[in-house]
Amino acid sequence: MFKNFIAGEWLDGARVSRNINPSDTRDLVGEYAQADAAQARLAVASAEAAFPAWSLSTPQQRFDILDAVGSEILARRTEIGDLLAREEGKTLPEAVGEVTRAGHIFKFFAGEALRPGGELLPSVRPGVGVEITREALGVIGIITPWNFPIAIPAWKIAPALAYGNCVVFKPADLVPGSAWVLAEILSRSGLPQGVFNLVMGRGSEVGAVLLEDARVSAVTFTGSVGTGQKVAAACVARMAKFQLEMGGKNPLVVLDDADLDVAVNCAVQSGFYSTGQRCTASSRVIVSEGLQQRFVAAMVEKMKTLKVGNARQAGIDIGPVVDQTQLNQDLDHVRIAQQQGAKLAFGGEALAENEQGQPGFYLRPALITETSPEMRINREEVFGPVVSVQTARDYEHALALANDTPFGLAAGIVTRSLKHATHFKRHSQAGMVMVNLPTAGVDYHVPFGGRKGSSYGSREQGRYAAEFYTVVKTAYTLP
Ligand code: NAD
Repeated sequence: MFKNFIAGEWLDGARVSRNINPSDTRDLVGEYAQADAAQARLAVASAEAAFPAWSLSTPQQRFDILDAVGSEILARRTEIGDLLAREEGKTLPEAVGEVTRAGHIFKFFAGEALRPGGELLPSVRPGVGVEITREALGVIGIITPWNFPIAIPAWKIAPALAYGNCVVFKPADLVPGSAWVLAEILSRSGLPQGVFNLVMGRGSEVGAVLLEDARVSAVTFTGSVGTGQKVAAACVARMAKFQLEMGGKNPLVVLDDADLDVAVNCAVQSGFYSTGQRCTASSRVIVSEGLQQRFVAAMVEKMKTLKVGNARQAGIDIGPVVDQTQLNQDLDHVRIAQQQGAKLAFGGEALAENEQGQPGFYLRPALITETSPEMRINREEVFGPVVSVQTARDYEHALALANDTPFGLAAGIVTRSLKHATHFKRHSQAGMVMVNLPTAGVDYHVPFGGRKGSSYGSREQGRYAAEFYTVVKTAYTLP
């Protein structure tokens, strides 16, 4: 039984959740304690008690702890990556890559702990000095989704601690394993008791405490739009700071002058890898008329070669969907697209088992063509290996189609035209823009986030993380 870490102790929960391997549903990854609301409140109380001392800890103390956590994650990347692939279903190389990213993030924020920025200005009044500094907020409630079981927790926990905050962390119910390993490493890292707490449990119970408890100064959330709206409403009601990263319907524009291999590679990588379960996945490919037929034909040829199977097996390109509910959602979207008049050009069928006969939530990646902008397949996030194709008359039309979405996380363009690439970077209504690169796959040391319905609040990651995890103080001194 894997327990919760609250007030420096490993505690049993009120219930138990079973972590199932989506590549082979007969395989139980482990049983994990589920905290209830009272335990979540205990975690908040312990974080609140730890805050005064931790917020005054030295940059060296924070550097040493975060750096050591990063080193251990990197040293154990293969082992933790295997666990991550087993519980979430992304392929082993992708999972090891995610763990590596988590290690790098801890090391980046170890460095940031040593570099707290500030400003010293002369006052407009004679003899007075003005200092602008950043201070820790207090207790940060961290709520994360299932699709990046260690990288998203890392990019919230590491900056929270680096800037002197205490943490109550609630991972997604489907993937407690990687979160637990991260918590176990943090529990041995030298953090004072109460500075970091892990509370696994239901969103409606444990998550709700983090939204409603007045001792939680700020909530950082990544997940679906619906839950994000609940987070926002609860935080506004009690004037708590919050930050939301939510869904996407990311466009990839392919112009007539594109290198076809680059275009197919970008579309396959960011549409289907990680089983399409990435908020930055390009689920809409917008192709200009002249290349459309060749692009679709090349995509189908490439998709025939993609091997769907057990995430931990060598040579597999696409692992399973995370669970039955998500698989049903993916299949529904494929069906609805066809009902609305689109054509299924390839894939889209569930496979009850893989080539080894292991039962899992397998779906052959789907390419849907002959779609129009108002179809649900072009408006709603599927969150699976399902890509739609839209046809554009020219660059201007492609740009308009790309921006015709309530979301704005990532957008890409494949072109050899510097003019169009430059224009697209400026006029795309997305938080992150990629030229001749997949929309998924970003660096860990620069800001991450979107616009419109995809994100709310300040950016995550890189130095921009300080905006969320600190509060600015202006001090005036007359010596
Ligand atoms: P989800 O909204 O169902 O759950 C996210 C987290 O919120 C989980 O920990 C869940 O337990 C918790 N939660 C649920 N109800 C709650 C409540 N009432 N109060 C407090 N917490 C509650 O999302 P998911 O299915 O885990 O993740 C998939 C979604 O995440 C997709 O929409 C995807 O686009 C999005 N996502 C976005 C980004 C990004 O950076 N923009 C990154 C990854 C995933």
